[in-house]
Amino acid sequence: MTAVRLPGTPVIEGGHLISTSPATGGEAGRVPVATPADVEHAVERARAAGQWWAGLGFTGRRERLLRWRRLIAQRMEQLAELVHAEGGKPVADGLVEILTAVEHVDWAARNARRVLGPRRVRSRLILAEFSAHLEYQPHGVVGVIGPWNYPVLTPIGSAAYALAAGNAVVFKPSEYTPVVGQWLVDSFAEVVPEQPVFATVHGLGDVGAALCRAGVDKLAFTGSTATAKKVMAACAESLTPVLLEAGGKDAMIVDSDADLDAAAEAAVWGAMTNAGQTCIGIERVYAVQPVFDAFVDKVVERAGRLTVGPEDADVGPITMPSQLDVIRRHIDDALARGGRAALGGPDAVQPPYVRPTVLVDVPEDSAAVREETFGPTLTVNPVRDVDEAIARANALPYGLGGSVFGRRRAVAIARRLRSGMASVNSTLTFAGMSTLPFGGVGESGFGRIHGEDGLREFGRAKAVTRRRARSLLPSTTFERTPADVARLVKAVKMLYGRG
Ligand code: NDP
Repeated sequence: MTAVRLPGTPVIEGGHLISTSPATGGEAGRVPVATPADVEHAVERARAAGQWWAGLGFTGRRERLLRWRRLIAQRMEQLAELVHAEGGKPVADGLVEILTAVEHVDWAARNARRVLGPRRVRSRLILAEFSAHLEYQPHGVVGVIGPWNYPVLTPIGSAAYALAAGNAVVFKPSEYTPVVGQWLVDSFAEVVPEQPVFATVHGLGDVGAALCRAGVDKLAFTGSTATAKKVMAACAESLTPVLLEAGGKDAMIVDSDADLDAAAEAAVWGAMTNAGQTCIGIERVYAVQPVFDAFVDKVVERAGRLTVGPEDADVGPITMPSQLDVIRRHIDDALARGGRAALGGPDAVQPPYVRPTVLVDVPEDSAAVREETFGPTLTVNPVRDVDEAIARANALPYGLGGSVFGRRRAVAIARRLRSGMASVNSTLTFAGMSTLPFGGVGESGFGRIHGEDGLREFGRAKAVTRRRARSLLPSTTFERTPADVARLVKAVKMLYGRG
């Protein structure tokens, strides 16, 4: 018996990975599958290319990265169509993703020298006869492993910063979105044709595992928490440093002084954009009791208006067919434990689509509250006050982003969320702010992409001291005398022994 292959499931045939649309099953494109030897070879070639790239300096790289940014911006409609064909994402969502990615390429290119370039730092009195210099040098070859849900933004969030820092990049796209990954690398090669500075290796998870062991100098992973642990274990064998951007279960808190229309609009967008397949998507809302009913009504009204379908709809298909079972299980479990479907419910799962579903009064120990659902579903639970909301929001091992709606206390609440990021009176906006770092805590991973921290993630700090005068109080020499040591002790007591 031949197994039924659901649309969207990647297929390997004749040494090629064939990517198909989750909506229609039509072929989106094909790429060659890399063998372990191919992966090693790609890293070797990238090592040589990386030396050339590093040698261009910040100015040469900036100029080329800005040309790449221009090219992506000019062809953004074409790329969005490809994202749609391969992953099912609505074209408008694809365009928003691409504009965010373009902004990151721009910022990384323009700021790499300022953040990473050589500079003097201040000396302290204790070593005043030395000057201090700091710079961040490239690691060499950075391996990037990416997911399918944001196939442009997530790899660029690592790759553009790694490239701006002077590294070469070998990228393993998700098996669900290899053609978009190849598009990124091919477009980069158009503006940097000289050397394979940015390369792909394609295949299933084993190719990602091979990349971890292929001698890369750093590995930047974006994907699920389960795979992040495997990546870290593989990289531990060679003490290869890792950056892990993993899953999430982000919460929104709605306070009593919130603008409820704005909160409902943002909750629906945050939960259901990209059919809910967003690492920083809002999956849980905690609304304080006095505004709970009105908030739920507004969410249901807005989510009920969303269109679902293959073309020009608000909500597209679920990209990874196996996720449909997870979404169904979460809805069933929430209802079986006493939750209520204010919109949608078990019948909402109509492969390859899931209609918007709003679950209320869902027990906190149910799968819909504790596990990543990755569908256009949302749980909304009432809480006594913001302290209870924060306690519940912080109760999970994940800690990626979050959102707060309110006026007086909103920023204070955002600061108390156990997460790497938060938006006040909006959702997901921190991902587009290229000046801010992006990353999680706990099971959501560690390390940062984007912003200054994101640039430093891809450089090794190199610290240099330089003597500029004779030491008045010599300490780091066998030539010091007992009188020098006595003077040192006196100086230390004067400097640090008081106040
Ligand atoms: P997966 O963890 O399944 O896959 C991520 C990548 O890892 C894919 O390229 C995958 O290849 C590869 N991979 C699989 N097995 C291994 C292995 N043993 N060693 C090395 N690489 C491997 O995640 P998804 O692609 O399903 O992406 C969805 C997840 O990503 C969600 O949990 C989401 O929250 C998270 N995510 C996190 C983000 C963040 O910034 N924190 C942003 C976006 C998504 P293949 O596809 O071929 O299996």
